[in-house]
Amino acid sequence: MTSDRAVTRFAPSPTGYLHLGHVRSALAGWRAARDAGGRFLLRLEDIDQTRCRDEYAAAILDDLAWLGINWDGPVRRQSEHFDDYQRALDRLEAMTVLYPCFCTRREIRDEIARAGDAPHAQSDRLYPGTCRGLGSRERAEKQRSGIDYALRLDLARALALTGPLDWVEEEEDGPHRKLADPGPLGDVVLARKDVPTSYHLAVTVDDAIQGVTLVTRGEDLAPATHVHRVLQALLGLPTPRYRHHEMLTDATGRRLSKRDRALTIRSMLESGISPKEIFDLALGIAPLNQPDPFR
Ligand SMILES: [Zn+2]
Repeated sequence: MTSDRAVTRFAPSPTGYLHLGHVRSALAGWRAARDAGGRFLLRLEDIDQTRCRDEYAAAILDDLAWLGINWDGPVRRQSEHFDDYQRALDRLEAMTVLYPCFCTRREIRDEIARAGDAPHAQSDRLYPGTCRGLGSRERAEKQRSGIDYALRLDLARALALTGPLDWVEEEEDGPHRKLADPGPLGDVVLARKDVPTSYHLAVTVDDAIQGVTLVTRGEDLAPATHVHRVLQALLGLPTPRYRHHEMLTDATGRRLSKRDRALTIRSMLESGISPKEIFDLALGIAPLNQPDPFR
């Protein structure tokens, strides 16, 4: 099921070369837009300037062009729009749904262990709220001292303002209304001392600024939708429809990752594989054999 005149986007991070998993994501957005006579946008998620490189950004554009996956309008680079994120952050600050967190990763891990939580994957990532209750004087003192901190979303306060939320998820059998349940993500980080945004804030702001009406992305990002929906409500932004696709796996069922160097679009280009063959592999129409890491 396709929305009318869908505006979709592909939003890779230039931290490496495009691989087949990226092509699956790009095709999902590109085909949804082209089928509907809509627009397909390209965004480079390069807020982490320690990991992103211009060389990879240029390679992403080259590889997409070579594949014939054309995009509409200018490329949006997140690193050029920190003022947009700062404005959103200021708005959240004024709503008092942010608080500074001074914990190191290690302190968060230790605190979880002390609380006696089972060390399963979810609690491993869930922030225990250590800094939520700091007094304003203590906060100001710590911030003045110059130590690093993150700005976290006070989820309970946020939800008290927004009330229950939902969105439309497009699944194979049609659209379904999903209830937002951001609890399992906890008080996510929305910015850092020196960077006025994080993945969650930048994505939410960008999708609104770019007028994206249908977000297509891998199902690994499906859990983030719950918190993105909360941010949309707080910031008064429209809610796109969402379509999360299955991740590409190799013949052994293992998810592809950047480690699979042999599967970069670059290396396929060099070995003479055609775009059509790459699409078939990316969509799972042709089987993927175990990549040879030494190729
Ligand atoms: Zn903390």
